[in-house]
Amino acid sequence: METLGKGSSVLIHLNHLKENYLQIKDRFPQCEILFMVKANAYGHGAVEVARYSYRELGIKEFGLASLSEAIEIRDHLPEMKAELYVFSDLELEFSESKETYLNKRILPVISNWEDLEIILNDGEFEHLPLCLKFNTGMNRLGFLHDEVEAVIERLKKAGKTEVHHLMSHFANGSLSMETNKRNQVQRERFMAIKETFIKAGLKLEKTSLGNSGAIEQGIGGDETHLRPGLMMFGPSSLAPLHKKEGWFKGRVVSELKAKVLKVFPVKKGDPLGYGSTPCGEDGVVAIFSLGYGDGITTQFRNAKFTHKGEVAKVCARVCMDMTYLLFPVGSKIQRGDEISLWDEDSDNFEALSESVNAIPYELVIQLTSRVPRIYQLD
Ligand SMILES: *Cc1c(COP(=O)(O)O)cnc(C)c1O
Repeated sequence: METLGKGSSVLIHLNHLKENYLQIKDRFPQCEILFMVKANAYGHGAVEVARYSYRELGIKEFGLASLSEAIEIRDHLPEMKAELYVFSDLELEFSESKETYLNKRILPVISNWEDLEIILNDGEFEHLPLCLKFNTGMNRLGFLHDEVEAVIERLKKAGKTEVHHLMSHFANGSLSMETNKRNQVQRERFMAIKETFIKAGLKLEKTSLGNSGAIEQGIGGDETHLRPGLMMFGPSSLAPLHKKEGWFKGRVVSELKAKVLKVFPVKKGDPLGYGSTPCGEDGVVAIFSLGYGDGITTQFRNAKFTHKGEVAKVCARVCMDMTYLLFPVGSKIQRGDEISLWDEDSDNFEALSESVNAIPYELVIQLTSRVPRIYQLD
């Protein structure tokens, strides 16, 4: 990490993560946070993000997609006494996985009958806390909401008296929680599922439903836990029409820095780079040190960036390791300048992701390992 020869990097501002987290805790003081750090903590570095969140923020539960993601965190942070949940790729059908779950204290979130049978039929799993996910309308993983009686019957037959964590997941968290019919139905179904468990005499230790979009609208606080991912990293999940329904104003945790390698004046029509793309207007070209090999994909061909008050547009084709930016005539941009392609401003970050036809989730995730992550506490 000391030698940053490429001159480009992504700064991870952990103090922004803290501020975003405190905003959620402030709004929902009664809830615990199960922080979703799947996909390498949305590209920010799962181990570093989990370490900071555990030590500095006191977060004690983390969500991963696959067993290997959970193993990575457990092995790198052996002293961490947090619960690690695996949500989708459980690999329970492999006998080696059983040892891993038990020895490394990892919790599989059971969402289908095959996996449920595996853990109920194996005596060694007897003391494994039972985590269940129901499908209330997302139609991805999860027991069907109308299978709840059958699930309860099976659990009782196996002698279970409690569920450690019962969950469901919104399909339309970016849309209104109040007026969107599908969101209403999902909330009602989850409530009904919980009631059925309780009436059947099964204790529900923890429950969670809200992801970022719901949390941003103040929904999810009836459960013991919230499961935010994206908002912890700053961007909003809300669709533009619903932004006003949100209370949250996040600071983007990542800041992508690149170095200007060359600056030269151009005239409209001058050929630039591969394919000799004609320049659209007069101006000043600055070539910066990131390209599609770093995650600045060819989708950035229409991106706009703001640098020291000047708006620069990507021009010419994105190269593997460099990108052309067109600044206005008279620009002060210079060779050797450092530019931030995005910073803490979440509105700019969301506008940038829209201009490249991506969702905010993708921009950091798609940065490749060529771009060093540098962690900053302030
Ligand atoms: C990814 C994920 C979340 C977090 O979603 P965000 O929209 O990033 O807040 C919550 N729950 C489940 C099951 C997930 O897969």
